[in-house]
Amino acid sequence: MVEGAFADAEPLTEPIDAQAVGPVMCDDFEAGLKPVRLAEHGLNIPYGMVWSMEAVTVIGGGLGGLAAAITAAEAGASVTLHEAHRTLGGRWRSTPVRKKAANPSSNPAAYRAHEGPHVIYRDGPTWTWLKERRLLGVTCRVPLSAVARFRFWHEGRLLRTPPIGFLRALRISRRRDVPVDQSFRDWASKLVGEEAADMGASASGVGVFHPDPGSLSAAFIAERLARVFAIPPQASYRQGSWGAMFDEIGAYARSLGVTIELGSRVSSIGTGITIVATELESARALLHDDSLAWPSGRTALLDLGLTLDRRDVFVVSDLDTAGWLENFTMPDPTIAPAGEYLVQMHMPIDSAASKADGVARLEAIADQALPGWRERTTHRLESLANARTGAVDLPGTSWRDRPAIDRGDGVYLVGDRVAAPGLLSEVSLNSGVRAAQLAVV
Ligand SMILES: Cc1cc2nc3c(=O)[nH]c(=O)nc-3n(C[C@H](O)[C@H](O)[C@H](O)COP(=O)(O)OP(=O)(O)OC[C@H]3O[C@@H](n4cnc5c(N)ncnc54)[C@H](O)[C@@H]3O)c2cc1C
Repeated sequence: MVEGAFADAEPLTEPIDAQAVGPVMCDDFEAGLKPVRLAEHGLNIPYGMVWSMEAVTVIGGGLGGLAAAITAAEAGASVTLHEAHRTLGGRWRSTPVRKKAANPSSNPAAYRAHEGPHVIYRDGPTWTWLKERRLLGVTCRVPLSAVARFRFWHEGRLLRTPPIGFLRALRISRRRDVPVDQSFRDWASKLVGEEAADMGASASGVGVFHPDPGSLSAAFIAERLARVFAIPPQASYRQGSWGAMFDEIGAYARSLGVTIELGSRVSSIGTGITIVATELESARALLHDDSLAWPSGRTALLDLGLTLDRRDVFVVSDLDTAGWLENFTMPDPTIAPAGEYLVQMHMPIDSAASKADGVARLEAIADQALPGWRERTTHRLESLANARTGAVDLPGTSWRDRPAIDRGDGVYLVGDRVAAPGLLSEVSLNSGVRAAQLAVV
């Protein structure tokens, strides 16, 4: 079955590097900036060199589960993937506007939003992994006209140019010797002063979704700050939203022989090799293992569909409270009706604050960034993402301290809060690839 299906798959044209069969936890993997093929991009299963006849069950059809299923199938395993929903993609699904839109006559499918701002960074493993398999589709970069509309929110007002303190915090975040065991605030304050340290920490918010990023490990925050504010910008957008890409990832998996069972919620683990690629809370229940825990973020989300106003900004990076506003129509005009913008915002909040508190702070930013937005609103959606934005590492911890991928007895754990490096969902991808390697090699 696998060989027949494999014949349909795109042949690999790159030469196979025999040296590539080596330890996966290499420096590149640790840096979290590359996937785990050592030959060029780090993935450590050269196609065709390692042939496994294992049967593998994958639970969860998000990015992590699909990366695991594809990696195992590329190595020859017979794979069945179960996904509880009717569509693949997990938290990368696109969310068409709800019928409760402010303007109910607007077409509910007119906006292609994600659950909050979702970009793939070109300097990371997800981009490379998808590109290698020609699964990226048509992607969009930030247009130059939008770059000029980037703003910073500082002390309650919008700034066109970044405060010098923020730039100083950004500069030190690129150092290689950032400590794991100190908080970003403690470490950076000694180098650039407390105010600058706080601005740097808040600016990392778009990659962290935590209300107090300065309290987290310095190494964790510095890596995110440096990547989010890389020059040139590395953020990328998929034309028509990322959700559509998962149909193609699913088709590619099927072409490798993966059986995908949609609408199939697994309630207990059977015998045989099993890769659990669900949210950590679901994995805890499935594996009856209360040790499966790791801190994450909590953030209020506000989506707005707006009629176009040429004064609108592209991005607001909130240097006071780690929020973010982004106009996703500027890089990709296909995701909103002609003449409208889709703006997505998020504001991290602590457990004492409500969604309404976060939304109120976002509205204060919108008042300056999107003049007259209340009168221009065609769509509005508020939500709360609790423990859905990936791992955060406290001082003294790094990705190595998170729940291990190998759970013993042929069970492996995949997700964005497990022991793998990377930014946000790159952790899911890296852990998916690694789990499959451990399972089938
Ligand atoms: C607001 C917000 C913004 C984000 N922005 C970004 C960003 O810009 N860039 C980025 O890289 N990441 C971003 N992320 C993080 C990213 O969405 C996640 O890290 C990623 O989607 C996790 O993928 P996953 O496969 O590990 O889990 P999921 O996507 O959650 O997939 C798990 C799947 O398992 C299924 N499942 C659960 N239980 C069962 C069961 N018992 N049986 C069968 N199936 C089951 C679920 O239905 C789900 O489809 C963001 C997240 C949020 C919430």
